[in-house]
Amino acid sequence: MTRVLDGNAIGDRIREDLRGCVETLADADVRPGLATVLISEDPASATYVSMKQDACEDLGIESFHHELDTDAPAQRLYDRIDELNDDPSVHGILVQMPVPDHVDDRTVLERVAPEKDVDGFHPENVGRLVAGNARYKPATPHGIQKLLAAADVDTEGKDAVVVGRSDIVGKPMANLLIQKDEGGNATVTVCHSRTKDLSEKTRGADVLIAAAGVPEMIDGSMLSEGVAVVDVGVNRVDADTEKGYELVGDVEFESAREKASVITPVPGGVGPMTITMLLYNTVKAASRRSGVEVDLP
Ligand code: NDP
Repeated sequence: MTRVLDGNAIGDRIREDLRGCVETLADADVRPGLATVLISEDPASATYVSMKQDACEDLGIESFHHELDTDAPAQRLYDRIDELNDDPSVHGILVQMPVPDHVDDRTVLERVAPEKDVDGFHPENVGRLVAGNARYKPATPHGIQKLLAAADVDTEGKDAVVVGRSDIVGKPMANLLIQKDEGGNATVTVCHSRTKDLSEKTRGADVLIAAAGVPEMIDGSMLSEGVAVVDVGVNRVDADTEKGYELVGDVEFESAREKASVITPVPGGVGPMTITMLLYNTVKAASRRSGVEVDLP
């Protein structure tokens, strides 16, 4: 029997535990605060930001939203980040990516104070993650670790294959999987667009993380019996629906499901976990700054 993981249900359980942490902080007069900064007219970016704000509100985390015109000078964005860095009511700062071309995304990532970088993308935080001393684990790969744990998939000693090497998913995922830590201790192969014979690699996987952004590129014929499949991809493809499209993952669900012991659907798998783990990092940031200890899930 293949187990289809429900990211909404698993995420909700973690959010309930986080609610308890927020209450512990409130007892000490600390209210976690997350600042979101949007400099984009892309409707998808605006949707992601408003989902994050709603999730904060639901949990009792204060959310501060800052919107800049897309053609605003880069310096205005950097100044805004500086203000947020100095604002004691803000524990986490999230600049929604991508930023317009005239803004240097590396400068943005480095401008956010590492203690408030709840995305975990500042080079200092990346370094800490690689060194096995993470301050904030990036939300998507951390959420995947939680999903696997909820499904009792032990990664220790397993062959894990990560398809994709981006800074936000593939690389941090691989780094977490090789750590000498819970949810790690795997033997990791990282694949990308230059990998030769991808199927040979994916067939060797006990745990497969697909994060390439290519609709349904991995099907059942590329998998071995009993594999745990985590599909990170979110791809819009034309479809005869009201919206004219549907969302599919990087994995061809039906054929993969026949091989997998565990599989995540798209939507409803990794996506809800990403926002949950951003909330987790914001609560952690507030706890660290205030010195009020909380029992993080
Ligand atoms: P990127 O485009 O930044 O990276 C994609 C990676 O996949 C690259 O490393 C690329 O290789 C590799 N790749 C592309 N095509 C192939 C191929 N044919 N074979 C092997 N490797 C390939 O994407 P992201 O990491 O940002 O996102 C990946 C997917 O995950 C997207 O669909 C995105 O929407 C989704 N996503 C979902 C999230 C969620 O919460 N559910 C969160 C973040 C992302 P190379 O480096 O050589 O170009």
